[in-house]
Amino acid sequence: MTSYPPSVNELAEFFSDSGLPHPILVKEIRNAIDEGDWENLDARIKYIKTLPLQTVINATGVLLHTNLGRAPWPYSSSGYATNLELDLSSGSRGSRQKHIGELIATLCGTESAMVVNNCSSAVLLILSALASKKGVAISRSEMVEIGGNFRVPDVLELSGAYLVEVGTTNRTRKGDYERAISANRDVGMIMKIHQSNYKILGFTEAAEINELSDLGVPLVADIGSGLLDEGCPWLEKNPPKWLSNEPAAKQTLSQGANLVTFSGDKLLGGPQAGIIAGDADLIEKIMKHPLARAVRPGGMILSSLQELAMKYLNRDWEAIPFWKMAMTSVEELKDRAQAIGIGDPVAMNAVPGGGTLPQVVIPSFGLQINKDIAQPLRLGVGDAPPIVSRVEDGRTFLDLRTVDPTFDKYVASALHALT
Ligand SMILES: *Cc1c(COP(=O)(O)O)cnc(C)c1O
Repeated sequence: MTSYPPSVNELAEFFSDSGLPHPILVKEIRNAIDEGDWENLDARIKYIKTLPLQTVINATGVLLHTNLGRAPWPYSSSGYATNLELDLSSGSRGSRQKHIGELIATLCGTESAMVVNNCSSAVLLILSALASKKGVAISRSEMVEIGGNFRVPDVLELSGAYLVEVGTTNRTRKGDYERAISANRDVGMIMKIHQSNYKILGFTEAAEINELSDLGVPLVADIGSGLLDEGCPWLEKNPPKWLSNEPAAKQTLSQGANLVTFSGDKLLGGPQAGIIAGDADLIEKIMKHPLARAVRPGGMILSSLQELAMKYLNRDWEAIPFWKMAMTSVEELKDRAQAIGIGDPVAMNAVPGGGTLPQVVIPSFGLQINKDIAQPLRLGVGDAPPIVSRVEDGRTFLDLRTVDPTFDKYVASALHALT
């Protein structure tokens, strides 16, 4: 006996309290009927409800999880008009970059700064504006793929610059750059790219920033990770040990880089953005390039970044979720794990993530559940937001370092329901 599907209207009526907008619900019902799968509509609607962007609880122990939006940081918008490009004092056209640029330049101890959509666009824009039709000297150890097909040699080609490879995979010295420049290949820039997501170990050598600053061409350092200052003065205490080998914007500039580039949503702890900081004359030239308009950030990003810069300037690190996660003591995490009271409290290792600090681990603490409940946790249990955990050998691990303490109650209720 063949079963016939109920009418679309009947099904839409039946699922009307699903929370899905009517057109989306009807479309899904039609798809299900077309595929002979209407008996599974309940599960299909549950799946559709996982698709919208929503708050999730990051219990992975990866502080900057690219799939979870890297650094957690709120976007705020008044919902009203802003002075995005209006100079309030003169009434004439202003620059969206001026104020945020000054705040970031102050934090980096340099002349000038500007903001674009992400660090990838920062690199593309700099190359296009300052090195088009010229050679760019880059060490063979730094021809990196950042991810998502963003590969340094390809980006260079796209910008109209050409690559002048120097040194070898494992060893590159100052003399290699000097030779490339004197070989009359019209080298117009040296670019140093931080080995953010990989390490070359063993018989290695690299030229330092301060060795390359007097070779007569602009020196651009893509530090990627976005640590502002290696002393972390905003913390008013010692920075965590695991940060010790990370290049910082301020020091890279004071060692002689003319420009640095970094992401807003890695160690800076802010929204997705790309920062270019350094010499004012170079930044002025970059701002005039047509591509600058194509990669400019919107007001929501700029106000969000402005709020973050203020927290740094006011040394209010506890208001920056990334630094809060980074600085929480293992004892505190242990207390929270015990207070949740379900599963086994265990020591574990968190990681910085986000393509930063390869091999670095951060001592942490969390809960171990002796079965795999990762999928039901992700689907959301009761009123708990989706919880993203880690599974190893059929056991589920929830690292509390990356969980905001206000979410502990949801972790508790979800674990209670599933175990
Ligand atoms: C992460 C990173 C990038 C890319 O930054 P996005 O903001 O993700 O575009 C570029 N360069 C380096 C060295 C990085 O670490």
